[in-house]
This record gives sequence, structure tokens and C-alpha cells, in this order.
Amino acid sequence: MDVALRFLGAARHVTGTKHLIEFGDKRILLDCGMVQGPRKMSNAANLDLGLDARSIDAVVLSHAHIDHSGSLPRLVKLGFEGTIHATEATVDLASILLADSAYLQSQDAKHLAKRGIVFEPPYDEHDVARALRRFQRHGYHESFEVLPGVQCEYYDAGHIIGAAMVVLTLESGGRKIRLAFTGDHGRKGTPILRDPEQLPEVDYLITESTYGDRLHEAGEEMATALARIVNDEIQDGGRILIPAFSVGRTQNVLYTLGNLMESGRIPRQRIWIDSPLSSKATKITAAYRELFDKDARRVLESGRDPFHFEGVRFIESSEESKALNSVHDGIIIAASGMCEGGRILHHLKVSLPRPQDCLLTVGFMAEGTLGRRLLDGNALVNIYGESHRVRCKIQSMQGMSAHADYRELCDSLRHLAPVARRVFVVHGEEKQALTFVDRLLGLGFRDVIAPEHRQREELHLL
Ligand SMILES: [Zn+2]
Repeated sequence: MDVALRFLGAARHVTGTKHLIEFGDKRILLDCGMVQGPRKMSNAANLDLGLDARSIDAVVLSHAHIDHSGSLPRLVKLGFEGTIHATEATVDLASILLADSAYLQSQDAKHLAKRGIVFEPPYDEHDVARALRRFQRHGYHESFEVLPGVQCEYYDAGHIIGAAMVVLTLESGGRKIRLAFTGDHGRKGTPILRDPEQLPEVDYLITESTYGDRLHEAGEEMATALARIVNDEIQDGGRILIPAFSVGRTQNVLYTLGNLMESGRIPRQRIWIDSPLSSKATKITAAYRELFDKDARRVLESGRDPFHFEGVRFIESSEESKALNSVHDGIIIAASGMCEGGRILHHLKVSLPRPQDCLLTVGFMAEGTLGRRLLDGNALVNIYGESHRVRCKIQSMQGMSAHADYRELCDSLRHLAPVARRVFVVHGEEKQALTFVDRLLGLGFRDVIAPEHRQREELHLL
């Protein structure tokens, strides 16, 4: 009995991760992510997953980000009745992210209906609830059976809390192979998170390649950069707005600000976390202290709470959020991370015309987003159809990313070169994926390909 892999998403692309493993009569899906991007293109792909949901026996999920988990409720709606395997923190994060995704879709449908556009959301909150009932929780390094003949073990990916690299052992008639999937591979030294673990020796590897052709700018260390920017802003007498994704970056920034205040590198500041989703994600992160790195554990051992400290307020209601309009100093951390929606927009309207205020970007800003236009130095930007002059300072923290660059990925994977029979490069735009193929060949890997969308590849049991 041999094995086949079919790449149903994130092949020469970065969103909608879905890799199908066919093993005899069994079918396992690695991740079931949503396609993100222009609505017309993404909606069609998110309605038709390109597979027969009823034929899938199990899902193995790498982490909670929507581009990896966001189509699970659709899969269940279309008839999937198997188990979804994930780490404990991933299950908790997926529960809030999937509910948020269903809510955003219903909002989109309402807004578009007003303009006479019919938008069919791929799923609603009931489908989310049904999907959540199919989850089974696992710890890292707890070997578990996905299906008879298929064992799985999770390794820490250092990407977001709960994120895992997946190692599968497929066995039939005394012959077997090991297959690893990096999911999204993080970076060493990310605040709070442990460093990505080293994968064990495997026969086949599926690796991401988001930054397959790029190196992150060295930049200043995050804490140093934050201290400098906050201290400058105190001199200028304004407030700092930080657009940040609810999971990961919000907790990284808050934790680092707490450390800076504790060590006296910045004066005590008021900090508002203005996003209900960020509040929930912070609670979940705080509940998984056993997954923290050494530095964050030391903070806990000293009796200090890394997220709830003097000056921090988590904002829930929109009234409280609007009241922040009268705040002239301190730090507001709000979603969305690329300024494409959410409460950050209201705060931007207030701060953009004020020279004393500062917009601090701490993450990647995709082409076409408001965050990118601001970062590019546009003097006029549109928010909700109104034009706003940009007079505030725009600062960006370089080198912050939840994904390894190609050098970091090569360092993490090179020990597999003598043993891996074949490598599949996914989760990168075409140029990044193809460049990374060459880099892996340069490291001595024998056989490396970047599969195309829906490409099918046979693997052979040894
Ligand atoms: Zn991710």
C-alpha cells in the first residue's frame, strides 16, 4: 500500500493550506485553511474546497491561524464526520478565531447586501460549533493514533502559542515512512514562545517557504526599538497607536512593554488593548504558561503577571473604545494588524492629523492595505470614504515576523538533507517557493519540488 500527497491549497501561494494524504483507503487532511485575498477569488475557493468532505477520515491541524484552520467549519458543513487533531492551545485559539471568522463573514454579507451584492458566507456560527465538537486535544510529544497505521507527534513550531510541526509515521505490512510538515515555522528569540524545535529524521518533508527568498532585516532588538520609540514619544507629548494581530503580536508587544517598565527602561505608561478578540487571545495565551520560554517563565516565577500589570486596560465595549478619543498620551494596541478594519481605524482618524502622535507598525503590511499606504508615506489616506491628512509620525519595527527567513529555515532543516528522500516546498508565492527549492538543493537535499495547485505525488513505503 503506497501513499499519495495532493496539494489542494497553499501550493505556490501562501493562504488556504490544505494537503491531502491518501493512504490505502484512508484520507487525511493536513490543515484546512481559508483562502484570503480579493473576495471574488477567495470566496469561490472557500465555498468549494476542491475535495469530497465526506471522504476525509481525519484532519491533523498545525495551528490556529485562519489560513490553516479557517475552512474546518466548511468541511464539517459539507459532511466531514471525522476527528480534528490539534494541540490544546490550538483548539482554544481556533474556537475564538473561527467564531470571529463566522461573525466577520455575516457582517460582510450584510454590508454587501445593502449594495445589492449577494455574498454567500461559507459557514455560520452553528457550523463553527459543530466543527469544535470534532476536535481532539493533544500535548506536544504525545504520540497519538490518527487512524490505524498512522501515528502523529507534534513538535513546537515557535510560531504562535500552540503552533506545531507535524510528524506522521505511516505503516502498513511492516513497511513504513515518516513524513514531517513544518506548518508555519517560527523564529528563535520570539518573546514568550519557545524556539522552534528540531525535527527528527524523516523520509519526506513538506516545508513552508513564506520568506524563501528573503532575509529579515536585523534591525534593533524588539525591546530596544520599543524603548526608543516610547521614550521619544513621551518627549513629543503624544500617544502611540499600535495596530497588531490579536493572536501573537499583541501579546508579544504587551509583554515586552511590561518588561521595559519593570526594568525602568521606560516610565510607567497607560496601555489599552482595544480588541475583544485580543483580550480573549491574551487569556488563552496566559493559560498556557507551561509553553512559555525561559524568560517568560522567569517573569511568572517573580510573581509578576506578564499581561495584566499596572496601567493595562483591556477594552471590551465600543463605548469604552470611543472614549479613548479623548486620550492624548499612552499606548493603544488595537486590531486589525494591517489597518484594514476594526477599532484601529477610529483611533487613526483621531491621531493621523496630530504631529505629536505616533503610529507604530509591528508586523507585515501587505500591498494594497491601509497599513502599507501609511508605511509608504502617503500624505492623504482614505478611511470609510473620508480623506485624512497624515501628519503624525510613522514608525515601524523592522525584522519582526512570526515566520523564519530562508537562512533560519535552512539552519533548521539542513540536518535532514542526508536522510530526506524528497522535499515538497509549499506556503510561499511562486518566486519564494522556487527560490527556496534551489536553496534546499544547495544544502544537499536530493529531490526538492514546489508542487503546483492540485498536483499529486506518490510516496513509497520503505
Ligand atoms: Zn500561521
